[in-house]
Amino acid sequence: GVGAEIDLSAIVADIAAEMAAAPDRGTPASYIPPLAAVDPGKFGIAVIEADGTCHLAGDAEEAFSIQSISKVFALTLALGHVGDQSWRRVGVEPSGSAFNSIVQLEAEHGIPRNPFINAGAIVVADVLLGRNEPREAIGEILRFVRALAGDDTIVIDRSVAEAEVATGHRNVALASYMRSFGNIEHDVERTLGVYFHQCALAMSCRQLALAGRFLMADGLNPGTGRQVVSALRARRIGALMMMCGHYDGSGEFAFRVGLPGKSGVGGGILAVAPGRASIAVWSPGLNERGNSQLGTLALERLVQRTGWSVFEAD
Ligand code: GLN
Repeated sequence: GVGAEIDLSAIVADIAAEMAAAPDRGTPASYIPPLAAVDPGKFGIAVIEADGTCHLAGDAEEAFSIQSISKVFALTLALGHVGDQSWRRVGVEPSGSAFNSIVQLEAEHGIPRNPFINAGAIVVADVLLGRNEPREAIGEILRFVRALAGDDTIVIDRSVAEAEVATGHRNVALASYMRSFGNIEHDVERTLGVYFHQCALAMSCRQLALAGRFLMADGLNPGTGRQVVSALRARRIGALMMMCGHYDGSGEFAFRVGLPGKSGVGGGILAVAPGRASIAVWSPGLNERGNSQLGTLALERLVQRTGWSVFEAD
């Protein structure tokens, strides 16, 4: 746990109070219709320490659409299926581009820059589909996330998934374009069925922070005592979160927060302080790069007050 001089519960409560009063909350995503209907006044934070101590404040128990945060869990699962073979089909470089950008795919022959932009996550969904039906692959992702969080009440929000099927033309374009290079193996509707449903996972900050614990503990889930992935793999997933977890805002997030993090367009962020804590924040308003405005600010304040950083000297 933290040193006696740090009162984590007070810090978390203070941050939630400050965020409740914050004037500039950003703008919720509107291109997925159900996301536009979420109250922009929401803010939640969950911090789970290495010993399991859990600190919650604000709307930490309210489920929201985790969207691109699911890309971390899908990648973890895909690495378990096909291992480092995955890296033939998706790169490990920051894109410097928007989450849904198509431009780099032409020069790079249908190989996305990393697994956390949409194109890369669609390739990962294609890997997970494998020889299964979309329904089975979706079920596997759901079971995996439930096991990580130790919570069988986690569900996929069908209305969000259906809204994405109805409006996700950009993702259809990305998948079709990659299919033309042979980097999508299934009909794009089937692969996107997996992708849209994983994005529609509904989780609270508490559930998300629980599911992220293996990333702060060298791949070991302290809740179950089970090794989810090797320490090397957990560190590599952390490196990708640090470099690519916030799209073209990844540098700014690393600069301000200094922790591996993954954002979603629903306004959630999962961040990891290795050896110390798994952290989830949620506020629906986004900045111009599609990352939670107050979620980022809250994490910035948390690391200022705790001293947590992957760059800390101890
Ligand atoms: N489902 C969203 C999409 O594909 C995920 C984007 C995000 O969270 N940045 O557009």
